[in-house]
Amino acid sequence: MNNNEFYERLGVDKNASQDEIKKAYRKMSKKYHPDVNKEADAEDKYKDVQEAYETLSDEQKRAAYDQYGAAGANGFGGGAGGFGGQGGFSGFSGGGGSFGGFEDIFSSFFGGGGGQVNPTAPQQGDDLQYRINLKFEEAIFGVEKEVKYNREELCHTCGGNGAKPGTQPITCQKCGGRGHIQVVRDTPLGRMSTNQTCDVCHGTGKEIKEPCTTCRGIGHEKATHTVKVTVPAGVESGQQMRLQGQGDAGVNGGPYGDLYVRFQVAASDKFERDGSEIFYKMPVEFVQAALGDEVEVPTVHGNVKLKVPAGTQTGANFRLKGKGAPKLRGGGNGDQHVIINIVTPKTLNPGQKEALQAFAKASGISVDEQKAGFFDKLKKGFE
Ligand SMILES: [Zn+2]
Ligand SMILES: [Zn+2]
Repeated sequence: MNNNEFYERLGVDKNASQDEIKKAYRKMSKKYHPDVNKEADAEDKYKDVQEAYETLSDEQKRAAYDQYGAAGANGFGGGAGGFGGQGGFSGFSGGGGSFGGFEDIFSSFFGGGGGQVNPTAPQQGDDLQYRINLKFEEAIFGVEKEVKYNREELCHTCGGNGAKPGTQPITCQKCGGRGHIQVVRDTPLGRMSTNQTCDVCHGTGKEIKEPCTTCRGIGHEKATHTVKVTVPAGVESGQQMRLQGQGDAGVNGGPYGDLYVRFQVAASDKFERDGSEIFYKMPVEFVQAALGDEVEVPTVHGNVKLKVPAGTQTGANFRLKGKGAPKLRGGGNGDQHVIINIVTPKTLNPGQKEALQAFAKASGISVDEQKAGFFDKLKKGFE
């Protein structure tokens, strides 16, 4: 690629200022203008001058041209100053019918530059998101869920080609299947040739003579779709799964998009969970804690016996190995942590009272129940 060619067409050197380029352009346009110059190749030369000026008069395009040649100036890789945005826009999700007016703005001058996605090319459908609410135990053990949602599907009547059954889409006659047409316009700068999306096929390159009555030629229809999701054991809130091909239908024969399933796990009234570790607050009578005992501890895997040693305090932490939630990576289960909470009896029968008074005496503790009772009455009086 000769990166000097545009400069040569205008007769300026590579370091020419915008002023010099403009002056040279005026001179060369006059020289080759078809109304003035009757030489056989005048019109071609005139067009060449227009093309060179369109690029060199824009500093961003000029820089791209200097670096990449003409392909760069036509929007290659967004090098020509932001035309890459068109690529994102062309992910039109309406199924081929929703081309807006943007081509009119962008296609003048740069018609169909490299940054533009070919509208006749197959495109994958949109990805969708779905939230699955799980009970605490469902997230731990895994579960099968059936999810139902609306998506764009290929029309069941025409199979997606948009043509009435028994007919076929034909190659668009206006654009020859290219999806765009060349438009020549007279402008103050002279005659200019631009590319526009074909108004007959809207860029698809296919013409439908008799549209399918179900989808009106679009090839897609809204449908309620059901899919079975196998939720793996051990998932947590916020984690997601990708289900390939369960999103919206593609365009021009492109594949379906994907469905992203996001999990929301409900809290438990008994347990707390952090990853594969489960925490449980175990109430233990003060006598059991003082004398030591074997207690039954609930876990998500069923009750488990735990030895509470004599002299256990509130806040003591015991670990039940492998009684937590499954680890998503590496296999096996986490542990359950049992946090002891010593419970003081709220009421005492006379026998218990007597035993405790004896206990206090044996411990050398002087307990003034009279005073405690007095405060109790006082408190009651205020209620
Ligand atoms: Zn149809
Ligand atoms: Zn067409």
